[in-house]
Amino acid sequence: MKINKILADKTPTISFEVFPPKAETGLEDVKAAAGAIAALNPSFMSVTYGAAGSTSKMTIEVASSIKSLYGVPVMPHLTCVASTKEHVANMLSQVRGNNIDNIMALRGDLPKDGVVCNDYVHASDLIRDIRAQDPDICIGGACYPEGHVESANKSEDIHFLKEKVDAGCDFLTTQMFFDNNIFYNFLYRVKDVGINVPIVPGIMPITTARQLSRSVQLSGTSVPERFKAIVDHFGDDPVAMRQAGIIYATEQIIDLIANGITHVHVYSMNKPDVASDILYNLKGIIG
Ligand code: FAD
Repeated sequence: MKINKILADKTPTISFEVFPPKAETGLEDVKAAAGAIAALNPSFMSVTYGAAGSTSKMTIEVASSIKSLYGVPVMPHLTCVASTKEHVANMLSQVRGNNIDNIMALRGDLPKDGVVCNDYVHASDLIRDIRAQDPDICIGGACYPEGHVESANKSEDIHFLKEKVDAGCDFLTTQMFFDNNIFYNFLYRVKDVGINVPIVPGIMPITTARQLSRSVQLSGTSVPERFKAIVDHFGDDPVAMRQAGIIYATEQIIDLIANGITHVHVYSMNKPDVASDILYNLKGIIG
């Protein structure tokens, strides 16, 4: 099922993200974790693509196992940085060969050694090519409510975001944020430039202090004082920090739904217990 059809429904829903293992030895464990999340019956699941394309085979394998064993709509990710045109054509034929209707098209983080394949420079180049090869596939793209770390400013980033949507993107998913007001302001700004595709907020439940520092370091996401205080206070107590992080993420989701957002994507990080606790907290709210 195409994700843009799911997003057109006005009933609140939750989707989850998982990531493939770094090496094939971890594949069965990841498939088991993804399966346990799929068994919670989310509206869809996304499967990330490892840096520089190292996991491309496993991304497809995890996605197709979710789809075939649990019937949950899936969206494998694909990045430009290490992709030749032949590789993209091959990935698309694997996606379609596994009856998958969605793909998330990204640039990917630039490798430290600077070695990239130049067939596609920006995500919009990849999106344009996928759209030309497959007019019917549903294409997702990434967006950044606080601006992408490489952008000179938010206006420039939104200008290029419009180009990405015009290239053929059906919907956008945001990078994580910990302050919903940043997301609401972003929605006004993108509407102003004529971006009208659905924008799905991405929420990351932070369950350890280390996870917060790593995620923030990579993404540049700002951490509100209220959340800093929670991590300062509970960070040394794993059980308390896990519970506080899940409650914080749940509160963000409830606030989003209360403000008319019907779909939220949760960065569940291969943790079925976290996904399950969030859904339990929302059981009177999500149908
Ligand atoms: P782009 O849209 O190409 O933007 C990258 C930068 O280039 C931005 O600063 C943008 O403003 C600028 N730009 C865009 N177009 C132009 C242009 N025409 N001229 C000049 N500048 C331009 N990474 C992975 O490796 N694997 C994943 O599976 C993955 N999944 C992700 C899922 C989500 C929801 C998000 C938010 C991010 C994900 N990432 C993933 C990280 C992502 O690859 C990085 O953030 C990357 O640095 C940017 O990717 P992009 O697709 O947004 O790139």
